Amino acid sequence: MISRLWSVGLRCRAAWAVLMLAGWCAGRSMAAEERPPNVVLIYCDDLGWGDLGCFGAKKIRTPNIDGIARRGTRFTSFYVAQAVCSASRAALLTGCYPNRLGIHGALGPKQKIGLHPDEMTLAEVLKPRGYATAIVGKWHLGRPKELLPTRQGFDEYFGLPYSNDMWPNHPGVAKGTYPPLPLIDGDEVIEEMPDQSQLTRRYTERAVSFIGRNARKPFFLYLAHSMPHVPIFASSRFAGRSRQGLYGDVIEEIDWSVGEVLNALRKHRLEKDTLVIFTSDNGPWLSYGEHAGGAGPFREGKGTSFEGGIRVPCVMQWPGHIPKGRTNDTPLMTIDVLPTVARLAGAALPTRKIDGLDVWPIVRGDGDVPHPHRAYFIYYNQGDLLAVRSGDWKLFFPHTSQTLGGKPGGTGGLPAPYQRPAVGTELYNLRRDPAERSNVLEQYPEVVARLTGLAEEARQELGDQRLKRVGSGVREPGRVE
Ligand code: MG
Repeated sequence: MISRLWSVGLRCRAAWAVLMLAGWCAGRSMAAEERPPNVVLIYCDDLGWGDLGCFGAKKIRTPNIDGIARRGTRFTSFYVAQAVCSASRAALLTGCYPNRLGIHGALGPKQKIGLHPDEMTLAEVLKPRGYATAIVGKWHLGRPKELLPTRQGFDEYFGLPYSNDMWPNHPGVAKGTYPPLPLIDGDEVIEEMPDQSQLTRRYTERAVSFIGRNARKPFFLYLAHSMPHVPIFASSRFAGRSRQGLYGDVIEEIDWSVGEVLNALRKHRLEKDTLVIFTSDNGPWLSYGEHAGGAGPFREGKGTSFEGGIRVPCVMQWPGHIPKGRTNDTPLMTIDVLPTVARLAGAALPTRKIDGLDVWPIVRGDGDVPHPHRAYFIYYNQGDLLAVRSGDWKLFFPHTSQTLGGKPGGTGGLPAPYQRPAVGTELYNLRRDPAERSNVLEQYPEVVARLTGLAEEARQELGDQRLKRVGSGVREPGRVE
């Protein structure tokens, strides 16, 4: 009797195993062939490297963002292409150095230029693979209707067309400098001068709604918070909650927002199907003092090409694909996001030349894989090549920078004045000297020669306004009459 039961049990177990195997195979082929991963890309505005719990912040609580680091990987040498809004966003969304696109600095509300409609954004790259696409938050790649995100592959747009401070009531800005701040839905202005303390909440609600409405197909959600760019606001639920004043409150509300987005993914059982990337467009705007964040151990902030301006906090999760609880110190740049995501989605790259490369083997944590880039190039102003990073080394070219020079930043939302120091040709070893204190130009002539040669190749392709060089690969921005 016992042996019969045992053999029936065995037969049942064998049948169960066959069923399980069949299901597993079907599941695998479904995952690989039918559903490319969802992508949630959260981009903060002027969030510093040191402003998150998982990056060492002591007075700001960010349990939800820290959770991404725990379930995924913390990238500690993650760069933006430039330390300023529009240029940084152009690079993120197209995989190109902003110079190549003719996008420089931060576009103003009255400017008639923006990202050229012929440039392909990540949304346009993903559309042919069946993705629903949305941008919620700050666009800042062209205000005219013809240049809004709905013309660049995004099915939905809800947010501000440019920076949060380009409004008439910003302290210290003369009245009438800017038109009223428009909140846009699709390509129509739905409100002039929205209550900015409600932006983070409203963006979050729209993002959660988009996930719910598109849970059954692949989607790309680009959630580009207007905060913590000055003037900063937190809703009443978060005001006064942190131990770092209003700035800390603002970051804790962004962390709540991240939690809501992650909850939506869990609710729709999409966590394992979704790559989540959280990062920032540039470092902290230090002149705003108590209304600005911090760059952790790094030198300077937004508007400079020192590490505090261009190195941003970054965490990514995709359970089963990105290693859990790791720190990855390999240099990466936002230009690599588009080609890497395109690979994961099985999408074709843009036909026009781009600069970013597929860095998935590095993101996935494949040990000592060779880096696909020989160097990253840091431009600023109207196309000046200011620095090049290659391996542990960073070489600066002569330019004027900005610094508080040890003086405190502003209070009450007003900026303190910057000094404008000259930076010379300077070499730093970022592994030994991440704070860029010790210029070792004289000691390493062979390194200087190698990085100078790499910079020269970049100038041929992308130009260098400082040296009046026009790059052979530079394209025109979008323009309207
Ligand atoms: Mg910014």
